[in-house]
Amino acid sequence: MTRDVDVAVIGGGAAGLTAAHFLARAGLSVEVYDQDRSILKRARLLNLPGQEELEGRELLASLRAKVDAAGAATVATKVNDIVPGGGTFTVTLDGGDTVTSRYVVLATGQGTLRLASLPVETTEARQPFVKVNVVTDRWGATSVPGVWAAGVVAGWPSQAVACAGSGAAVAIEIASAAKGEFWVDHDDTSLAPDPE
Ligand SMILES: Cc1cc2nc3c(=O)[nH]c(=O)nc-3n(C[C@H](O)[C@H](O)[C@H](O)COP(=O)(O)OP(=O)(O)OC[C@H]3O[C@@H](n4cnc5c(N)ncnc54)[C@H](O)[C@@H]3O)c2cc1C
Repeated sequence: MTRDVDVAVIGGGAAGLTAAHFLARAGLSVEVYDQDRSILKRARLLNLPGQEELEGRELLASLRAKVDAAGAATVATKVNDIVPGGGTFTVTLDGGDTVTSRYVVLATGQGTLRLASLPVETTEARQPFVKVNVVTDRWGATSVPGVWAAGVVAGWPSQAVACAGSGAAVAIEIASAAKGEFWVDHDDTSLAPDPE
């Protein structure tokens, strides 16, 4: 079976789910492919802004609910390969289904990246427990046009808020590229008083 989406997000942890939430809010069609091995499942978070303490599993559940409510799909599967060609990407899922996407977000966390057909530049990881880093520019773009990376696989510190933030930033880049103008997700600022 083959289907088309605007954005394929590989990895449903802090970075991937945050990216998917923002992308869906921007009106893009999004699918997240996730093996459910986020290291958030082992974390108790004492350093989130606006929150005293939160189990990583609770953050994951909350992010998944937001992604779902915004209209993006999360598919429990492994991505085996991503093949670029003709300005799109063919994403191969476990079981043989394929998905065609205009953009890809790599948010695969700290493990090995095994995507034989995707020629993204990689480098030795910055953090000792991370297997590989994808090389990106400041805003998360990789060496392959149309592919962005976020979270620890992109070299961000292994902190939930940093990884989530990088997912948001990448989503803003992709939404801006898709719309042809800079896009941010703000509510109606005309109602807000000027800050002193
Ligand atoms: C014990 C422990 C305690 C921690 N405590 C804190 C803390 O107090 N504060 C804090 O801020 N951070 C903490 N962290 C770190 C935080 O959990 C991570 O920084 C954050 O989860 C990283 O987000 P990520 O999206 O990059 O990766 P992850 O959240 O790990 O998500 C990566 C996802 O990608 C999926 N994936 C990978 N490859 C594929 C593929 N080919 N196909 C489909 N899916 C794939 C994985 O299954 C996984 O679900 C802790 C971590 C641990 C282990």
